[in-house]
Amino acid sequence: MGKELKEIVKRLEEIVGAEYVSCYPEERYFYGRDPGTMPAKEPEVVVLPGSTEEVSEIIKLANEKEIPVVPMGGGLVLSGLSRALRGGILLDMKRMNRIIEVNEKSRYALVEAGVSQGMLQAYLKKHHPSLKHSVPDSPPIATIAGNVCIHGSGHLSALGGFHSEMLNGLEVVLPTGEVVLLGSCSTSPYWFSRSPLPDLCGLFLGWLGTTGIITKLAIKLYPARQFNDVAVFITEDPEIAKEAILKITRTALAEDVLASISPKPDWVAGFQLVSVAWSAESKKELILKRDLIRESVREFIEKKIAGFMPLGADMKARFMEAPQSQLARFADVKKGGGFEYVGAIMPVELFPQACRLGEEIGESLEVAYSLGARVIGLGHCMMFFFAYAFNRADPEDIKRAQRALEETNERVLELGGIPWKAEEPAQKQILKRMEPNAFELMRRIRRLLDPKGIMNPGNWEI
Ligand SMILES: Cc1cc2nc3c(=O)[nH]c(=O)nc-3n(C[C@H](O)[C@H](O)[C@H](O)COP(=O)(O)OP(=O)(O)OC[C@H]3O[C@@H](n4cnc5c(N)ncnc54)[C@H](O)[C@@H]3O)c2cc1C
Repeated sequence: MGKELKEIVKRLEEIVGAEYVSCYPEERYFYGRDPGTMPAKEPEVVVLPGSTEEVSEIIKLANEKEIPVVPMGGGLVLSGLSRALRGGILLDMKRMNRIIEVNEKSRYALVEAGVSQGMLQAYLKKHHPSLKHSVPDSPPIATIAGNVCIHGSGHLSALGGFHSEMLNGLEVVLPTGEVVLLGSCSTSPYWFSRSPLPDLCGLFLGWLGTTGIITKLAIKLYPARQFNDVAVFITEDPEIAKEAILKITRTALAEDVLASISPKPDWVAGFQLVSVAWSAESKKELILKRDLIRESVREFIEKKIAGFMPLGADMKARFMEAPQSQLARFADVKKGGGFEYVGAIMPVELFPQACRLGEEIGESLEVAYSLGARVIGLGHCMMFFFAYAFNRADPEDIKRAQRALEETNERVLELGGIPWKAEEPAQKQILKRMEPNAFELMRRIRRLLDPKGIMNPGNWEI
């Protein structure tokens, strides 16, 4: 360890305590990797802060020493966004895991940045069973902050849009160390909304940890109703699947609309499955909603070109799971635990083209693939996922998956979609297409907020 690094480590130990700072090669190895295809990049030191004040002190030290800082939640983004591309400090936020407040009446939860999806889900179930939050299909240790940061989505996205749209406010440590409150909490004791003030939260959403460290956030909660149901619409024609999605979302009754297309198992090959989940306060309401959803696609059923699958209770339970365990099972289909996907944000009208694109790439490059789309809002857009599984122990298999991801990113951009939570090479592909003044504005904002360029460098750069 060099003299300069030794001094930095000593100062970090003074800030958070020696047990929460590590330069051990084993830990640097672990923190340098994520489950996707991106090559490992190890930090020089891993730090686990316990409070906003400690985060602020760490950032001030990083400015003084001009050393990079990379924030990490669950580290499950799959596109390598919390790898330390230029070394430096890896800031693992998991110790900051307090659920500070659940406001039942105004329906929001205020949490620290290290609170995981699983923690909040379990806490609400136990202490506030009338409320729920929108859960992504990622493993439960993914954090709420990490997911909001990248504009994630989940099982209530047909109701509330992207998870970043469900955000009411933030506490952020700026890249220069100051702590700021954004949203209604800047002016009121309540974290109820981002309006009507200038929306500064946007400076930290979609920026991939390059503009500051989120330390607290409030997210919207939704009614957890006693009666829940799911129906699965099935067709062989992606055009019909698209039309059905548009008609079903027009009813504004669904909480989640999730399409899936997969060559495996054999009985689903060639079919488009669109699962539609809804909930109600009474059995009567549940049945009424079911009938209205069915009615919206009756023309396809009458023509006998599509229909709803009969589902047993165990199948229904599977489709209603949040998070969906079948995705995690696909992630390990090749064994060796390698899994990554291009999540392309695009209009629902591009659904058929996206299906064809995924099938062509999967088959021509001979990669294990699964495709699908989660509808965001009332059909306002979708997150179409092109998921590729690979065996981490087989370098050729990893290369094949990397090729599939690169090609998918390029063709998604050609189609008019935008890769979501893009890996470093895909960020460059996006920036090359971006209107130059928009990119210049991004650069100016970043320079203004982070004059020493310490925040997650290497991301959103050409
Ligand atoms: C099987 C599987 C299914 C998935 N399904 C979904 C899904 O349905 N919906 C979905 O949205 N995602 C999904 N994902 C992707 C991903 O796991 C989630 O988006 C996850 O919530 C990311 O959170 P994280 O805590 O792991 O973030 P991380 O990977 O730790 O971080 C993500 C980004 O945010 C930054 N960051 C993290 N914390 C902070 C902070 N406190 N301040 C500033 N920047 C920060 C990091 O630097 C990085 O750029 C899935 C992943 C898997 C493996």
